[in-house]
Amino acid sequence: MTPNRRTLLHAGVGVTATFASATFAGQSPGSRDLRSPKALLADDAESRAVAAQDFGHIVHRQPRAVCKPATSGEVADILRWAREQGLRVAARGQGHATYGRAMAEDGIVMDLGALATIHRIEPDRVVVDAGATWHKVVDATLAKGLVPPVLTNYLELSVGGTLAVGGIGGSSSRHGLQTDQVLELDVVTGEGAELTCSPTSHAELFDAVRAGLAQCALITRATLRLMRAPERVRRFQLSYPDLASLTADQGRVLDEARFDQLQGAVVPDGAGGWRYQLEAGVFYDSNMPPDDKALLADLADKREIVSDLGFGDDANAFAKLEKLLRSNGQWFNPHPWLLTYLPGSNALQIASDVIAGQSSDDLGPFGRITYYPMFTDGCRTPLLRLPDERVVFPFNLIRIPASAETANADRQVVRNRAVYDRIRGAGGMLYPVSALAMSSQDWADHFGARWSLLGEARRRHDPGGILTPGYDLF
Ligand SMILES: Cc1cc2nc3c(=O)[nH]c(=O)nc-3n(C[C@H](O)[C@H](O)[C@H](O)COP(=O)(O)OP(=O)(O)OC[C@H]3O[C@@H](n4cnc5c(N)ncnc54)[C@H](O)[C@@H]3O)c2cc1C
Repeated sequence: MTPNRRTLLHAGVGVTATFASATFAGQSPGSRDLRSPKALLADDAESRAVAAQDFGHIVHRQPRAVCKPATSGEVADILRWAREQGLRVAARGQGHATYGRAMAEDGIVMDLGALATIHRIEPDRVVVDAGATWHKVVDATLAKGLVPPVLTNYLELSVGGTLAVGGIGGSSSRHGLQTDQVLELDVVTGEGAELTCSPTSHAELFDAVRAGLAQCALITRATLRLMRAPERVRRFQLSYPDLASLTADQGRVLDEARFDQLQGAVVPDGAGGWRYQLEAGVFYDSNMPPDDKALLADLADKREIVSDLGFGDDANAFAKLEKLLRSNGQWFNPHPWLLTYLPGSNALQIASDVIAGQSSDDLGPFGRITYYPMFTDGCRTPLLRLPDERVVFPFNLIRIPASAETANADRQVVRNRAVYDRIRGAGGMLYPVSALAMSSQDWADHFGARWSLLGEARRRHDPGGILTPGYDLF
């Protein structure tokens, strides 16, 4: 449960006492009476326990206190104060990270859930606070017949949370990642400076923040590209006997651009084996339904239309699975996920090797191995690391174990490392929302030639090194 305003105002005294005696540069006495830092901090056990958890349920780090700023100015005040105190700070959007990336041991966790206003919708853009969920953004823009070009498969993630890592979805093959749809960002740096950055203003900061794992600034507001929303989405699922035939058809429909969204997965078949699925969606307006025959011509025989929904219901389709997993308890089990990108040229070989080492029990009855090709033409975010090829395959071990056993999750985290090493050795890349330990050297290797971009931005904008300790980057 997120602490409400009342909880915050009646927070315990340990940290608030320290806070009250802190000096705030540039703050005139009494100028922030109603929302003084004292009112922003909660150090009660319940608030701290919430911030010591995430969707992964693997890493637990207790912060000293939690705060819930409602303005960019409050974010800046807290960051300046934390720097003076030598406290680390992590922003928390919706807490769906899987390995403690939004946690700060003995530091401050800044819950951005109150910074969630949709400010403005214009024909080509929307201006939103970073704590808003994509669900809220889609609801608001769809009402005007518009939609962000790239949506994650799950909409209850915050805008800031996905822009900090990338944000991939079924339309990424056409449009790149969510970080490629950003026109402008309002951020607060680790020094507490409120800045607006874009390709033409503080461009180096703009490049260091998008997919920059929150190492030099926190995002408070984003201006995002919009496009006209299609009315409906028809989804198809095609089944294959093995990975090779799935890969062949995926490559074909990608080249021919038959669908608006192309994904796919290897899923447990319930009998200890796997099902190989191509999953594709086509957008359309009701007056012009798709030609199913042409779309599916010469593809696998086993095929079905799995859904035909209005755009908003389709975008939110994951909610059904979330409801089921919450009701059977598996939403709250550990989730030792590993998310990567394989080079298109050897994806089939690497994926076959890795899948051979997985058991459907480890994945869980509702788990899956995401596997599909996408073009990288639209991916231009400098810190989003992809194999250097035109086609790459997102390849994700989405484990949803039926058991809450932590020893099993710890074993999977160790195995994630071995799988990652295998993938990396073959030219693959990590998607940093994964559950595995990474050293500073691992991150330097991961970012490669871009490591200096991030390092310089960190030195310049977060010289105290207080931001986002959960990645162990620096
Ligand atoms: C069920 C599920 C489905 C998912 N589907 C997809 C998908 O389709 N595509 C995809 O790309 N990812 C997907 N993810 C991964 C998800 O995008 C990342 O884990 C994302 O970071 C979570 O967003 P959040 O708001 O929950 O962030 P949190 O977990 O709260 O934070 C994640 C990281 O972002 C930082 N952060 C949060 N807010 C800000 C901010 N305002 N400014 C700077 N940094 C910030 C945090 O400090 C932390 O390091 C999925 C995750 C889950 C659990």
